[in-house]
Amino acid sequence: METSATRRKYSAGEIIFAEDDEPTTAFLIESGRVAVSTIQHGKVRELGELGPGALLGEMAVIDSAPRSATAQAITNCELTPIDRSQFAERLASADPVVRALLMSQLTRYRSALARLTGDAQEEGMPSAHDDSGALDKIRLESELRTALQSDQLEVLLQPIQHIASGRIAGFEALIRWQHPQRGQVSPNEFIRLAEETSLILPIGDYVLARVCDMLVELRGLGRESLPFIALNISARQIDDPQLIDRMLAHLEERGLPPGRLEVEITESLVFNQSQIAALIARCHAAGMQVALDDFGTGYSNLGPVLTLEFDRIKLDQSFTRALDGPRGTGLVRAIVAMTKALNCEMIAEGVETQDQLDALREMGCDYAQGWLVGKPISLQEVLACG
Ligand code: C2E
Ligand code: MG
Ligand code: MG
Repeated sequence: METSATRRKYSAGEIIFAEDDEPTTAFLIESGRVAVSTIQHGKVRELGELGPGALLGEMAVIDSAPRSATAQAITNCELTPIDRSQFAERLASADPVVRALLMSQLTRYRSALARLTGDAQEEGMPSAHDDSGALDKIRLESELRTALQSDQLEVLLQPIQHIASGRIAGFEALIRWQHPQRGQVSPNEFIRLAEETSLILPIGDYVLARVCDMLVELRGLGRESLPFIALNISARQIDDPQLIDRMLAHLEERGLPPGRLEVEITESLVFNQSQIAALIARCHAAGMQVALDDFGTGYSNLGPVLTLEFDRIKLDQSFTRALDGPRGTGLVRAIVAMTKALNCEMIAEGVETQDQLDALREMGCDYAQGWLVGKPISLQEVLACG
């Protein structure tokens, strides 16, 4: 074997690696042909022949098991070695579901190979790798698809109070999954999962349709002013150029004024400012308001509030909680002043105590949302309250 900095040359007949060797390197075949074989019941059995462009010996470096075959140069060969760390780092950062798929295939292949060579230790299925977390995720995702079609998803409404008047001005729509075995699954768990695939789009459409139906029922109460309902929008929905058109179509179908539907965009999603600016402009042209959700938790960057014309800023609940100390109080007071300077309204999230509400009122915060005002409840419960 001749070694250069990046390539290794093997002469015809030379062994590149042997069965049961410890794996250190995989190879990319640049030129020449390589035979892969194994010993079966004491005899050499050819498993295949590889040529330029093929990976060689990658299995063992992925799962660190000893080489399960021997590789021998058929002709003179040139190979680029690939260090195991090049695979290991990429595997570690890969999607856990993709990793689980790869490991499952590898386990199955090794087990088939062991049966072929008569090396199988025991009959039965190959043992599973430690990928139960990833498989759990796939299972949950399949169940979520079913949930969407079988009424397991419910949209609750959490009241938002206008602090000065004490009136319930609107609600935030919050999704819940009533799982038949797991009980109630938090949106923090399943919305992220749905966002990893395009499943978030039908879920978002489902919530949109439910919210518009709810507005129709609230209108039926015949109150002087119809409360607004705020809708949380996910990253993939922001990328959907039809989103606003679909919202308007739902509203128009039901004869609802666009101003009663609000859009909430969480701060961590505001990195493509021109895209968000275009979305806000479309909402404003249609008469819809847009709120910046979870303010203070994203990248702690004031750029978006400087350039984007949000109508409302929702103070994250961690700041509301901090109102019990002087630093938190000072910071929230400054945020209220900033909100006013920007001509925005402020909604404080996670208001749980009367002291917090009193402090927010004294500072001039416009709205409060939290358990003190009311927990998320079903539309039936809202209607029952009148
Ligand atoms: P968010 O939009 O910031 O919603 C506020 C969260 O704070 C809700 O959690 C609500 O139940 C909770 N909360 C409200 N008041 C209080 C309080 O006084 N104390 C405490 N400790 N918590 C309070 P939830 O319902 O678990 O939702 C979590 C997140 O999931 C939401 O955060 C939102 O980002 C997302 N989400 C919920 N529904 C949807 C949806 O339909 N679509 C999308 N894309 N995301 C949703
Ligand atoms: Mg929200
Ligand atoms: Mg929030």
